[in-house]
Amino acid sequence: MDIEIKMPEEAKKALNILKACGHEAYVVGGCVRDAILGSVPSDWDITTSALPDEISSCFKNYRTINTGLKHGTVTVVINKMHFEVTTYRIDGKYSDNRRPDEVTFTDKVAMDLKRRDFTINSLAYNKDGIVDLFGGIEDIKNKIVKCVGVPDERFQEDGLRILRAMRFAAVLGFAVEEKTRESIHKNKNLLRNISYERINSEFSKTMMGINCREILSEYKDVVEVFIPEISGLGDELWTERLNSAALVDNTILKLSLLFYGMDAELILRRLKSDNDTIKKVKLLTLNMDGEIIPEIPAVKRWINKLGLENLRMLIRMKNAGLKYSETEIKGLRKAEAIIDTIVKENQCYSLSTLAVKGTDLVAAGIPKGPKVGEILNEMLEKVIDDELENKKEALLGYANNKK
Ligand code: ATP
Ligand code: MG
Repeated sequence: MDIEIKMPEEAKKALNILKACGHEAYVVGGCVRDAILGSVPSDWDITTSALPDEISSCFKNYRTINTGLKHGTVTVVINKMHFEVTTYRIDGKYSDNRRPDEVTFTDKVAMDLKRRDFTINSLAYNKDGIVDLFGGIEDIKNKIVKCVGVPDERFQEDGLRILRAMRFAAVLGFAVEEKTRESIHKNKNLLRNISYERINSEFSKTMMGINCREILSEYKDVVEVFIPEISGLGDELWTERLNSAALVDNTILKLSLLFYGMDAELILRRLKSDNDTIKKVKLLTLNMDGEIIPEIPAVKRWINKLGLENLRMLIRMKNAGLKYSETEIKGLRKAEAIIDTIVKENQCYSLSTLAVKGTDLVAAGIPKGPKVGEILNEMLEKVIDDELENKKEALLGYANNKK
């Protein structure tokens, strides 16, 4: 098949420079796959017969960074674009199912393509044409994720490939080829050798994929290897969670919907999520069952408790997460409208939006100490219940009676 791939000028230049130095060079992997799929690749990786120091000397007039000399990678900067240029290589033995003990350079592009994970990631291209040794183009056309070589062997070399297969299927909307699929289920325990950081990175991308629901439901047993908590859910409830998560578009809401009712903090700490994510997911999951009465004082108390943005998130989570009755959905809509009004009218819902501060009370003669805080909180309650105006004079008048 004749395939033409639109490369940026800088990528063409990098290939030309290597060729002019007497080496073979191709763009390779994800960029070729994405270009064939019609999307714009974010980065263009280059594979070449040149050895690392040959790469450096070909690009002596450009900025180069020694990204991973041991693995044969030199980053070349052309017009501010960064290219990872890597020597053709064969991965050595994998004694820990994780990373090759050593890599060996080779001068055959075929050997380099053979070490790659999936047929769709195993294409190389330059202006002489495409190198497709494993049927990658056909698999892209048929939307199939399939291992290069024998799946069991490839997963045993590197267990992370299990999650990469799921990730590409979820993100690209592809199916997993049958032998590859069977092998994933069979070898799922190899993930125990993989660091949680790498697991999390693949899992997060999978979660954002258009086919996340199908993939995470078909491979629930695989997810259970690193999130055993979900085994308590049963297939049907897990699918329900996935359906909910598919209705929202951000990671925090998705995680909250998947893990609500479980110890989300424990799960996310294990997965090495960042602190902000953990904090927000914890807050949302803990409040998922709290009733939001669509009345001004109740909504104000919710804002005071969670903060504006978190409350808005909680409402989105509730909308996606539960099979609510018509009335309950209307209630959530109304609560959202109330939040908007409170914000627009700068209404008071917290000590920081109250028209007096502790220092004002002290200036008005109330002795420093716990009493000040007590009076402030009491006034806040009354303001929220609309029994007291949020004006300095009114508040000081009230406070004076408490002396
Ligand atoms: P994206 O950048 O969108 O995540 P990608 O295909 O570029 O997708 P990378 O992780 O950037 O993925 O890897 C670049 C290429 O290196 C892949 O296309 C694949 O050919 C190869 N590769 C990456 N990780 C592995 C692995 N664990 N086993 C075998 N080959 C791999
Ligand atoms: Mg990439």
